[in-house]
Amino acid sequence: MPHLNKKVYLETYGCQMNMADSEIVLGLLNEKGCVLTEDIEEADLILVNTCSVREHAEQRIYGRLGEFKSIKNKKPEIIVGVLGCMAERLREKLAGEKAKGVGEQVDIIVGPDEYRKLPELVAKSWHGERGIAVQLSRIETYDDVAPLRTNGVSAWISVMRGCDKFCSFCVVPFTRGRERSRPLASILQEVETLSSRGFKEVTLLGQNVNSYRDKNYDFADLLKFVAEVDNTIRIRFVTSHPQDMSDKLIETIAEHKNICKYIHLPVQSGSDRILELMNRNYSSKHYLNLLGRIKSLIPDVCLSTDIITGYPTETEDDHRRTLDILENVQFDGAFMFKYSPRENTPSFKMADDVPDEIKASRINEIIQLQSKASLINNSKHIGQILEVLVEGESKKSSSEWYGRTGGNKIVIFPKSNLTAGDYIMVNIERANSATLFGSIQKSIVLEDAA
Ligand code: SF4
Repeated sequence: MPHLNKKVYLETYGCQMNMADSEIVLGLLNEKGCVLTEDIEEADLILVNTCSVREHAEQRIYGRLGEFKSIKNKKPEIIVGVLGCMAERLREKLAGEKAKGVGEQVDIIVGPDEYRKLPELVAKSWHGERGIAVQLSRIETYDDVAPLRTNGVSAWISVMRGCDKFCSFCVVPFTRGRERSRPLASILQEVETLSSRGFKEVTLLGQNVNSYRDKNYDFADLLKFVAEVDNTIRIRFVTSHPQDMSDKLIETIAEHKNICKYIHLPVQSGSDRILELMNRNYSSKHYLNLLGRIKSLIPDVCLSTDIITGYPTETEDDHRRTLDILENVQFDGAFMFKYSPRENTPSFKMADDVPDEIKASRINEIIQLQSKASLINNSKHIGQILEVLVEGESKKSSSEWYGRTGGNKIVIFPKSNLTAGDYIMVNIERANSATLFGSIQKSIVLEDAA
């Protein structure tokens, strides 16, 4: 295939899996001579890596596609590609709407398992051919593709793709296909490369990392091997399903200093009746017992969760149970959403019968309760000296840095002679529900802090 020699502008929406996929896409295009540009006006190729998880996310992307129209009017040869979950889910709509105007500016539609075809589709599109590649795969893990990483501190690595859980509300099994794991050896090799390039943090990604398997190795084995590559690299992982979070995994986190003591464990609802309807395959009791085991083995663990409110048939009593679980656990953080029906999911067949004003009042109650818990948890850090990885300049002030603790808390502190990727100790002086604020104690390397 000839060199493409094109400038690519890429926007990424949705979860960290999409962020990691965008780096794979850029890696594949870069191999064929494309370069990344941050200026949409000078791009030859505009790509949007999309998210289908909620209606709102899709509407946002439709809006963005509308905005690309004016760019196409000025520069008709520009190629616009829709990648990711929306490409998979709405391929007919996006392709079919060309005639009607909504998808008019879309030249290429590529699902999450077909990114290898992208350079070829771009080349053809340049000669006027519209390209669609949306086949899902049972084997694709992109394990031999070198992602193009623009951030030199933190790296994402997808260790498994797809999901077999089929939660009733979720489109992921339909947009990202069935579960498959990347070979362990290729992951370790990538971590070694990242270590030699000076990266300081690696996040292992998967829709359900606990399902990772390579021959006899499970996710706990993978986590241990990754942590042992370089003990100055922090290791994170996301997301875990409460049904199969093993004691072995909890022990592995507890035993390794450089595995962050932060676990994101989506509960979704506190009502067993709703959990069953959601096909989550655990009860609130199982969930609380699991958190009890986690907290006893990792006392300083920080926990976050996902909540969906207003699931079909959710009553006031179900809602109270969700509030109870939040009150009981006192999570450090939560991602909280109003239920939105997604076509083709089992829940879509149920009437979306919780009125929007009730969903709104329930989500407000949930957010208020969670903010209180976050503030209480964050305030406990006041007076402590925490290890922070410097990530960059604070978005609100050019005289301050921001970084994160192992527990995934954002910390803001005055700038000094540091660079992104440095580990420092910060004395926490104040806190709100979202952020810690402090002053620098001293620079360290991670192994010194043991
Ligand atoms: S575990 Fe459930 S919510 Fe998570 S990706 Fe799989 S189906 Fe979706």
